[in-house]
Amino acid sequence: MFTFKGGTHINEYKLTKDFPTEKIGAPRSVAISMSQHIGAPCTPTVAEGDRVLVGQIIGDVAPDKLGCPVHASVSGTVKGIEQILGASGMKESCVVIENDGLDEPVGGLAPFEGDITAADAEAIIDTVRRAGITGMGGAAFPSYAKIKSALGHADTVIVNCAECEPFITSDHRLLLEEPERVVGGLKIILIALGVKRALIAVEDNKRDAAKVLEKIVDGDMIRVCLMKTKYPQGDERQLIYALTKTELPMGMLPMDAGCVIFNAGTCSAVYDAFRSGLPLVKRIVTVSGDCVKKPGNYVVPLGMRVSEIVEKCGGLVKEPRKIIFGGPMMGKSEWSLDTPVKKGTSAILLLSEDFESKPVKDPECIRCGRCVKNCPMHLMPAYIAQYSRLGDMEMAKKFGAMSCVECGTCSYNCPAKIEIVQYIRSAKNNIKAEERRLAALKKSGS
Ligand code: SF4
Ligand code: SF4
Repeated sequence: MFTFKGGTHINEYKLTKDFPTEKIGAPRSVAISMSQHIGAPCTPTVAEGDRVLVGQIIGDVAPDKLGCPVHASVSGTVKGIEQILGASGMKESCVVIENDGLDEPVGGLAPFEGDITAADAEAIIDTVRRAGITGMGGAAFPSYAKIKSALGHADTVIVNCAECEPFITSDHRLLLEEPERVVGGLKIILIALGVKRALIAVEDNKRDAAKVLEKIVDGDMIRVCLMKTKYPQGDERQLIYALTKTELPMGMLPMDAGCVIFNAGTCSAVYDAFRSGLPLVKRIVTVSGDCVKKPGNYVVPLGMRVSEIVEKCGGLVKEPRKIIFGGPMMGKSEWSLDTPVKKGTSAILLLSEDFESKPVKDPECIRCGRCVKNCPMHLMPAYIAQYSRLGDMEMAKKFGAMSCVECGTCSYNCPAKIEIVQYIRSAKNNIKAEERRLAALKKSGS
């Protein structure tokens, strides 16, 4: 079985793994964020009072900038452009659409014309961009740009189906229920790149999904690889090491190992864009945690707010202490129930205080070495955290703070309950701020 060095076994809490995907009820309105991908945010292309249809572009990015359009996920009337608090704590521009319940699609949505197996890379890249597809595992890097940058550099496409974070089961259900969408999208990406080797990485806690996939792939070009269940197996560097035994230090990209990685959901979105012409307007979201009455895996229109999703899931049974988009290890805590679902939202977790780690006053390191043993980046987290705590950023940098992938494994295992990853994150922010300051000084000639 494939695996990497370090990492840890964590409580899985995959409460919804046997819950088939359901369509969530229609939202009364959606708030579609203009900041759904890495790169330049979209500028709204609609105004208050406009009628919009499903799949219509409502925001776009200039062609020379990194980014892709966003589309209406319901038909209805634009109520306005509102500033809504996002996970970053910053307000994001959102196009708010009142749903007319008709689900009327925009004209012109059609399957890819011609023989896809003979399509050139440019046509595929253009279709992926127009469909607004981004990484759906959380990072939300525009997929057209990833394919473009891998052209001529990658000889292996990896489909990341590790889903190693606790609670999340959206990719698992997708693989079980619609594996042909994932494999279909992967084949289109292979055609675009002219690559003849793909590895589908599935953790061994999803053997049922691996079996389903094995039945529909030809083992020559596309191989299903069973990975040992261990956190953070889904991290790009760990995935590449596990599959190819190539170490990627910070600063190097998957492409440096000849690999390009796509998430399972992203592949299925590529397939939809070619099969039906439908852009990315909905996704599977795992709704879980101990506060929601009906946890499950739901197909949710982009822009639906947490409050309405919770309502459709039977409401709350406990007061949530934390609302997390993504997994509890690397996901983002949200500020309010008004936050809308975005392209990268794989899960919404509503967790009570029972899941809160109780803060320890002035925790002291007992030098057990667990954080060092488990760090997948082979760092000395205790030292970096200590230097960060003392405000010595130079030493924190020397000990490799910038190589930390913020997986949280060190904090999870620390018996002294030191918030190691928070200290390291803070050191990284300070180091970056200082680098920006020095660059600005250099530019101004001072
Ligand atoms: S130091 Fe960073 S990379 Fe290493 S375990 Fe901690 S959070 Fe993960
Ligand atoms: S795991 Fe915690 S207590 Fe153990 S060495 Fe690391 S920081 Fe210290």
